[in-house]
Amino acid sequence: MTHSEHEPPGAGLADRHGRVATDLRVSLTDRCNLRCTYCMPAEGLDWLPNPALLTDAEIVRLIDVAVHRLGVTDVRFTGGEPLLRRGLTEIVRAVAALPGRPRMMLTTNGIGLSRLAAPLADAGLDRVNVSLDTTDPARFKTITRRDRHADVVEGLAAAAAAGLLPVKMNAVLLHGVNDDEAAELLRFALDRGYELRFIEQMPLDAGHTWRREEMVTAAEILARLRAEFTLLPDPAVRGGAPAETWVVEGRTDIGGAPARVGVIASVSSPFCGACDRTRLTADGAVRSCLFSQEETDLRSALRGGATDEELADLWRKAMWAKPAGHGINDPRFLQPARPMSAIGG
Ligand code: SAM
Ligand code: SF4
Repeated sequence: MTHSEHEPPGAGLADRHGRVATDLRVSLTDRCNLRCTYCMPAEGLDWLPNPALLTDAEIVRLIDVAVHRLGVTDVRFTGGEPLLRRGLTEIVRAVAALPGRPRMMLTTNGIGLSRLAAPLADAGLDRVNVSLDTTDPARFKTITRRDRHADVVEGLAAAAAAGLLPVKMNAVLLHGVNDDEAAELLRFALDRGYELRFIEQMPLDAGHTWRREEMVTAAEILARLRAEFTLLPDPAVRGGAPAETWVVEGRTDIGGAPARVGVIASVSSPFCGACDRTRLTADGAVRSCLFSQEETDLRSALRGGATDEELADLWRKAMWAKPAGHGINDPRFLQPARPMSAIGG
């Protein structure tokens, strides 16, 4: 079958490089109650004004379009901090009620999860990723500029108790701050049955402070883990998953299966060729890539009375133009205007 270079083919979210997006990241807010140094400045950002944000009903409608007209199978809620979105539980409940509902995940800093984990599980959420970069409360305060370590630890435990399994933990390491903690973080996660993923720091902070030479690389993380653990190749198929995973010898997860650890090497070993993601910002723009310089405004079309098929068509066209790769390793790389917290990490 042939199709024009300029027109997306068929029904799904294909791009001209042969990839098809089935994994939708929805940012529910650009606001946050932490100020992680690698993400936001201490004073916060110019938050989106409320009228610019999609309403709960608009979010559910766009997810319905993505699932029923565009082949999306997985939806991840993120932000900013998605637990700050008042309607979150009701959004999850409404998406769970869609025929052929997608799998639903949440990426959160964990603050408030001790209260919300059970209602979210009850509403139909399948899993959570909780970000935690250190086991030390004082370091947590240095990294996030807030004294909330205990809340996150409680949130993780509540997620496991609510059956949001496997509970995954995300960690970013920074030289001179927590780079000596790779093995300690893995021990913390293994002892509690959580699956840990390290994420290489990316040039997406609002302050534009990222420096390649200062980034803790996947190779460095693995060397530090191997000093204390034996990591075996993971027989599981990676597919479009961003993390490369290893089995931790001699350790099991909550269900008794071999325990795993992952590293997301977005910078040192990009996985753009297998990317299956599409993104919706809190103000209703589609982004084909975290790093795109372009976005497509669905909110105006939606508020202007567009039909589901017209919205689907705009979304398809936006994804058809997805760049081949993020280009971080290209000397001409330009950081996108929106920081990670406003795109949805
Ligand atoms: N607030 C939620 C949280 O922290 O999990 C969700 C949004 S946050 C932007 C999503 C993930 O992106 C977190 O795991 C965070 O550590 C990660 N992140 C933020 N800025 C990053 C950066 N510059 N490079 C790599 N990961 C980053
Ligand atoms: Fe907030 Fe998440 Fe960014 Fe930290 S990484 S400031 S928790 S949005």
